[in-house]
Amino acid sequence: MKSKIVIIGSGFSSLSAASYLAKAGCDVSVYEKNSTLGGRARIKKKQGFTFDMGPSWYWMPDVFDNYFQDFGKKVSDFYDLKRLSPSYRVFWDDKPDDIPSDMNELKAYFEKYEEGSGQKLEKFLAEAKIKYDVGMNEFVTKPSLSITEFMTLDSAKKGLSLDLFKPISKHIRSYFSHPKLIELLEFPVLFLGAKPQNTPSLYSLMNYADMALGTWYPMGGMNKIVEGMVDVANELGVKFYTNSNVEEIVVKNKIAIGLKVNGEIIEADRIISGADYHHTEQVLLSESERSYSKKYWSKRTMAPSSLLYYVGLNKKVEGIKHHNLFFDESFENHATEIYDTHKWPERPLFYICNPSKTDDSVAPEGKENLFFLIPVSTELKDDTEEVRKKYFDMICDRLTKHIGEDIRPSIEVYESFAHSDFVNEYNSFKGNAYGLANTLKQTAFLKPKMKSKKVDNLYYTGQLTVPGPGVPPSLVSGKVVSELVMKQFN
Ligand SMILES: Cc1cc2nc3c(=O)[nH]c(=O)nc-3n(C[C@H](O)[C@H](O)[C@H](O)COP(=O)(O)OP(=O)(O)OC[C@H]3O[C@@H](n4cnc5c(N)ncnc54)[C@H](O)[C@@H]3O)c2cc1C
Repeated sequence: MKSKIVIIGSGFSSLSAASYLAKAGCDVSVYEKNSTLGGRARIKKKQGFTFDMGPSWYWMPDVFDNYFQDFGKKVSDFYDLKRLSPSYRVFWDDKPDDIPSDMNELKAYFEKYEEGSGQKLEKFLAEAKIKYDVGMNEFVTKPSLSITEFMTLDSAKKGLSLDLFKPISKHIRSYFSHPKLIELLEFPVLFLGAKPQNTPSLYSLMNYADMALGTWYPMGGMNKIVEGMVDVANELGVKFYTNSNVEEIVVKNKIAIGLKVNGEIIEADRIISGADYHHTEQVLLSESERSYSKKYWSKRTMAPSSLLYYVGLNKKVEGIKHHNLFFDESFENHATEIYDTHKWPERPLFYICNPSKTDDSVAPEGKENLFFLIPVSTELKDDTEEVRKKYFDMICDRLTKHIGEDIRPSIEVYESFAHSDFVNEYNSFKGNAYGLANTLKQTAFLKPKMKSKKVDNLYYTGQLTVPGPGVPPSLVSGKVVSELVMKQFN
């Protein structure tokens, strides 16, 4: 008889685990509390606009290629991928700059700000490529159950020569000194979850992903990835149950034996939770069954929460690109407010995605689809309508200053999403948007473990465990947990 696996949640990691286990011959069912699949990458449709609710940057295309290849498919079977050029626009306080996708143009751009930095960038990215390769082959693809997994001579040698664990802020400053170039290289780690001073230089692999591998866009939107993954899973016989809130993981004699879903017990041989790790432990298990205490969680550094706005305009807007980063205020002050003082930011950095610049299908003809994101501390709970409106006005004022046009009179659709929505809609710990921060103390084997320490047959996947936040890591997380489950079956 086929082994029966039940999976909690339908984010990227759950979808990935479901397909790998179904391919390995298991009988897999996925239970999702919301009415649609995809977790944080759901879509919102309104008045002819289609908004991606979460991720918008398609980085590391190789991870998606490999994923679909594992099932005998190609990315192009599900969506058309476009490389964006320029990769994105950065609004500095004095002027906007387009960040070229072409390497020679990018080097020339660096040179404009700092003599000799073009060649240094080449060296910096060559090193970042080695980290990417080491990261993808030796960190990311391991279950990280113990430090011994990382003690192979090869990774230790590479680790020492590359100094993977010194802060990325120092690493970047050992190459570059112009503040704009430093911010450009520090932004991926800041937005993905920690101050650069607390992030190991291993994560300069993100700079390689950004600048060398490029920024891409799946036509139709990021949810096309979800649709493709669901198609693969359906073909393999995975069963999906939406509007199915898991209330409890049923445990008998320290062995997980099933789920309680909408009052009904579903029996299973193995259980994987792709829901927020903290929620799974603290809500779905009793105290003696938890691997980590409340105190443990209170000491974790979370990646930021976000104030998000989904905005439809009744006209086209000039002056912005597909991806736009507003670095016209102090990077340091905002990072301190997110990670140290946990205050509502005074003058936050923010990001606007304008996918209708590339893709006509996400907005009605002649209209514009905009997504605004402000990273904020996870300690801020009072995200009232007034607070949301105040920040929306603040960033619209800044946008007006930069592009010479106020978009507010042209708004046809306006919706916001913040801390309390992350908690209510995804059971997110402290309203985090992207899981645990990538700090040194929360890397690899120092992350919450994929296998329960207290309950047999219970596993975890997703952005709060290995390898970490982001769409590509979540795909990998599902693969790694499925391998762990299969290994322990055999
Ligand atoms: C605003 C935002 C922007 C982002 N931008 C990017 C980006 O540009 N590029 C990138 O690579 N990454 C980005 N990310 C990160 C990326 O989206 C996430 O890391 C990834 O989607 C997390 O996937 P996951 O598998 O961990 O699960 P999640 O997406 O967190 O899904 C978990 C699922 O579990 C369900 N669930 C929870 N509790 C229960 C329960 N009791 N019963 C049943 N179901 C339950 C939830 O409803 C949810 O559907 C962004 C995230 C956000 C929020």
